[in-house]
Amino acid sequence: MPELPEVETIRLGLQAKILNKKIVDLKVSKDKLIKNNTKSFIEKLVGNKFLDIDRVGKLLIFVLPEEKYLLIHLKMTGQLIYSKEDDLVAGGHNWPKVDDLPNKYSHIIFTFDDNSKLFFNDLRQFGYLKLVNKADKQKAVDRHGLQPTDKEFTLKNFKALVKGRRAVLKAFLLNQQIISGIGNIYADEICFRAKVMPSRHLDTLSQDEIRRLWQASKYIIKKAIDKKGTTFSDYRNADGGRGGFADFLKVYGRQDKKCLNCKKSNIKKIKLAGRGTHFCPSCQK
Ligand SMILES: [Zn+2]
Repeated sequence: MPELPEVETIRLGLQAKILNKKIVDLKVSKDKLIKNNTKSFIEKLVGNKFLDIDRVGKLLIFVLPEEKYLLIHLKMTGQLIYSKEDDLVAGGHNWPKVDDLPNKYSHIIFTFDDNSKLFFNDLRQFGYLKLVNKADKQKAVDRHGLQPTDKEFTLKNFKALVKGRRAVLKAFLLNQQIISGIGNIYADEICFRAKVMPSRHLDTLSQDEIRRLWQASKYIIKKAIDKKGTTFSDYRNADGGRGGFADFLKVYGRQDKKCLNCKKSNIKKIKLAGRGTHFCPSCQK
């Protein structure tokens, strides 16, 4: 599933390709992916153009003229792929491969006036596209918690989020209404870097542990964005479906392997907050 760094990578990639290009055609072959009336959805977009692309958490916000917005969420298996001859920008779920377009999962296809295309592919069809006005866009934004990339993500604000809660740390980090954009991979990496067990309850954390978690959240998410995420390569010739952060994973997916830090214990994997959770029993307290 694409997480914040993967969605940010798509955002930056598309921003360089599709802004201010006139949409000359829009094909929708799966109505259920459109959260508006499909006919009016198409009518409002054809002839229109995207002025900018924003993001909150994992939700992409395509800005249209006259304070209209197209929200796109990839959910589990959505892909957004821009293609113009050999030029390709792709992001989202890592299957199907992006070489063959359109394919049977290309449910929505935008064509721009330079004959470039933007495909929305979705294997399991949990993703969605929705046209909204400014007020509804703001409601969608407000449903998201603070992002580690926000300048308001200060130690003071992070401490305020932790205070008074007793939840398990891993569940807290994954709760998008509290902190927006940390998914399973990055939650494990953050806990490892902060040397805190993901199974700890928030009310047992020391001030120093909270500070380390805050710092690790900022560091890991920034590094993952710099490396264009973990789960997907964004260019055709990149290394077969992995973003560059895959090489920096310290615990995620390393169960039963020697810890890279202490080089003594093996990384353990348990189920926590409903998710596979990786940690070093020696390095994390
Ligand atoms: Zn260790």
